[in-house]
Amino acid sequence: MKPIIAANWKMNLTKSDASNLIGHINHAMNDIANIELILGPSHCYLDLAATHLKRGVIAAQNIAEFSGGAYTGEISAQMAKSCGAKYALLGHSERRHVFHETNEMIQKKLVLCNDNGLIPILCVGETLEQRNSGQLKTVINDQLDVLKNSAQVYFVAYEPVWAIGTGETATPELAEEVHAHIRSVVGDGVPILYGGSVNASNIKGLLSMPNIDGALIGGASLKSDEFSDILKISAALERKKS
Ligand code: PEP
Repeated sequence: MKPIIAANWKMNLTKSDASNLIGHINHAMNDIANIELILGPSHCYLDLAATHLKRGVIAAQNIAEFSGGAYTGEISAQMAKSCGAKYALLGHSERRHVFHETNEMIQKKLVLCNDNGLIPILCVGETLEQRNSGQLKTVINDQLDVLKNSAQVYFVAYEPVWAIGTGETATPELAEEVHAHIRSVVGDGVPILYGGSVNASNIKGLLSMPNIDGALIGGASLKSDEFSDILKISAALERKKS
């Protein structure tokens, strides 16, 4: 399997910044054959990214839990799909913690993804408090439970909340421990990405772990040089494996 590198731009970049960054990514991808690239721009740039990204696919950062109608400010799975998204991030920790998304809401979104031909990337992860109080597996299992009967094809992203945007990455061994647990729940065919302060210095160690199939990258995906390095390092790793 090629390493999967997914970028989550969050609520960043103007339209011209987004356009420039896509240009840099296209340039970097010219020399790279062995990466599955997924780009998650803000909703208002989905169309732009889908039109201009040459080698990669697009993810919406979120979709509404409703199929359509009077929900001001929301974007439906069908709308994201029609603007070029192939994937949708669901249950990102910022959605769970800032916008109080529950597993029930996420389950509805999973169904809508399936109904509209979007592949969900379900984000799961524990807070430091949950980890320190021995609740790690319970939290992860509860978050994975939404997949039962609601998703046919999906990815999982393990993103420990304490590692997102903090500069504190899980060590490859610590991440692998949780990935192996997730693997035991979801099975072999499901790609499992790691996310949480991934950068050009730690990507190699993380992707070398047997159950880490790729990375979901926030902050470092906004820096053109660093993101290009991440793509190159990941591609070189895959070549070594094959
Ligand atoms: C993310 O937003 O999914 C993420 C992992 O962010 P960062 O890489 O900045 O920690």
